Order: sequence, then structure tokens, then C-alpha cells
Amino acid sequence: MSQITFTMFKPDAVVNGYAGKILNDITEAGFAIIAFKYTKLSPEMAGKFYAVHQERGFYNDLVSYMSSGPIYVAILQKVNAVADFRTLIGATDPSKAEAGTIRAKYAKSIEANAVHGSDSDENANIEANFFFTQFERF
Ligand code: ATP
Ligand code: MG
Repeated sequence: MSQITFTMFKPDAVVNGYAGKILNDITEAGFAIIAFKYTKLSPEMAGKFYAVHQERGFYNDLVSYMSSGPIYVAILQKVNAVADFRTLIGATDPSKAEAGTIRAKYAKSIEANAVHGSDSDENANIEANFFFTQFERF
């Protein structure tokens, strides 16, 4: 059974020109792109998206970073999408990410770490619904 996951190409990946390479890595790994757009988060939207982290010391920096520039957002479909995508992107801290993973290749720091990937099926649906209507999914 196919599942979905949700991803963002974060501001650092976009500004450094890695969006095309990341998209290629994702499709080469067997994910179907069922929704895709170029957008920019307001600080309010970034705060809502990362609300689970609001007690963490890095929250305010994360919100201003995630609203600092445009991003690409996408819904990806594949068998075992959530877990396989987390494997493809690697550890949160790119210095600890396995060689060949998206974060190892393209991320700058633990904060500016190139991509987001949902951490559960439930959150994948919540995050996909945050950005996309049913009319934007094919
Ligand atoms: P994401 O949710 O973006 O896919 P993740 O699940 O690997 O990343 P989380 O623990 O959910 O990691 O953290 C969310 C984001 O917050 C990270 O991707 C990173 O941008 C930022 N972050 C996490 N830990 C730190 C930290 N110690 N210092 C600064 N920023 C951090
Ligand atoms: Mg996370």
C-alpha cells in the first residue's frame, strides 16, 4: 500500500540552487510527486508549522529562518514513504548524516538542513493539508 509523506526544500537549499538536484534525488529514489509548489512562509505560518518545537531553545531562530526565503513544498507517494524518505534525507545534523543522503550532500548546518521530512503518517497528512487542497493533488 502506497503512503504519502510531505517535504519542504528549505530556504538554504533554494538559495544555494539545490532544488533541482534534490528533486532529482527524490524521483530517482522512487517517490512520485503528487503535489508541488513554490511558496514562502510568513513567520506566523512557520510558527504554526513547527509549533511542536515551541518549548525548544532553537524555536525562534527556526521560525525566522524558515520564513527568511522561498521554499518548495511537495507531497510524495511511495510504499513506506515516511520511513524511506527519512532514510533518503539522513540525520537532522548534516555532519552526522550518512554519506549520499540529501542532508549530507546539500545541508549547511543543523538548522539550515536543506529539507524537511514528515516523521509519521499522521503528521504527513496534517502537513500535506497545511499546504495543499484536494484540487492540487494528482
Ligand atoms: P524536520 O522536521 O525539518 O524534517 P527533523 O525531524 O530531522 O527535521 P526536528 O527535531 O523535527 O528534526 O527539528 C525540526 C527542525 O528544527 C530541524 O530540521 C532543524 O531545522 C531545526 N533544529 C532541530 N534541532 C536543532 C538544534 N539543536 N539547533 C538548531 N536548529 C535545530
Ligand atoms: Mg521533524
